[in-house]
Amino acid sequence: MNSNAVIAIHGGAGTILRASMSASAETEYHAALHAVLSAGQRVLADGGSALDAVSEAVRLLEDCPLFNAGRGAVYTAAGTHELDAAIMDGRTLDAGAICCVKRVRNPILAARSVLEHSEHVLFTGEGAEAFAAAQGLEFVEPGYFGTEARHRQWLLARHQQRAMLDHDGAALAAASASASASASNHDEPTPHEPIDPNRKFGTVGAVALDQHGHLAAATSTGGVTNKQVGRVGDTPLIGAGCYADDATCAVSTTGSGEMFMRMVAAYDVAAQMAYRQVSLQEAAHDVVMNRLPKIDGRGGLIAVDARGNVTLPFNTEGMYRGFARLGETPVTAIYRQAVAPGFA
Ligand code: ASP
Repeated sequence: MNSNAVIAIHGGAGTILRASMSASAETEYHAALHAVLSAGQRVLADGGSALDAVSEAVRLLEDCPLFNAGRGAVYTAAGTHELDAAIMDGRTLDAGAICCVKRVRNPILAARSVLEHSEHVLFTGEGAEAFAAAQGLEFVEPGYFGTEARHRQWLLARHQQRAMLDHDGAALAAASASASASASNHDEPTPHEPIDPNRKFGTVGAVALDQHGHLAAATSTGGVTNKQVGRVGDTPLIGAGCYADDATCAVSTTGSGEMFMRMVAAYDVAAQMAYRQVSLQEAAHDVVMNRLPKIDGRGGLIAVDARGNVTLPFNTEGMYRGFARLGETPVTAIYRQAVAPGFA
């Protein structure tokens, strides 16, 4: 049995500033991350698989309205929700993913069903929903995913886009200057909150190493605020937003999806370990701090290797994140700070 079993999670990266986060919101986020880590830790402690631990952690994060996945998902330009998720088993390299679903309560469970019960890897839209229905998964009315905070965020994003379409450069500059000056809490936007989708990401994810020495990764998202209908980001793409291979590592990403896709970010961490023979930390750092910034890729990732090393790098102001080893109190963090040795 592997005593290094560990689970790590993220709840998205972006412009998350201590100065603009209320003490109560901060406490709420820490408590939510702590509860999810404890649940994942229990699965691992009971001898459960890494695959079970990451599906359970992401299912709980989807049900929590604080994060942009499942309930609490962001709105598309049409005022709807389109959800994406992926999961991968490092033991077998089996993978399952779905994108653009509108009524499946827990997209990660649909992705898991694809992994377990389909010869295919990725289903989209209606086909994904038909598959989920045939698997007996729970469906909800689309209104279930919306929250007041996300709706306000969307209205502000729409407003900013209108300014852009009008080519009103002066107004836009003034708006973004005041927005940057008062960057606010991830979930409770003030009228001046920067809503630029390139600056706020709230995807959720989990990676784990189980006591049997196997790795798994899972990622789930509502995408980016005010995205065009039909737009799909990195999250459900194996290798971009999610990757796991027992031979190297398990990775879940969050950030500007288009750039993570172009960099094949999650797989690049594994590939660097395999081909350059660098450590998990060095590979993940290179992807997040060197390679992604070259194409303006903003965000971060969480990763664990087969020895139980954990790394959680990000190139934004903050990332909701944490990890839990067996028998230890979960560690959670939001801003850029080292909270434990080896915890970037
Ligand atoms: N990567 C996600 C996407 O582009 C967004 C996020 O991480 O919040 O859909």
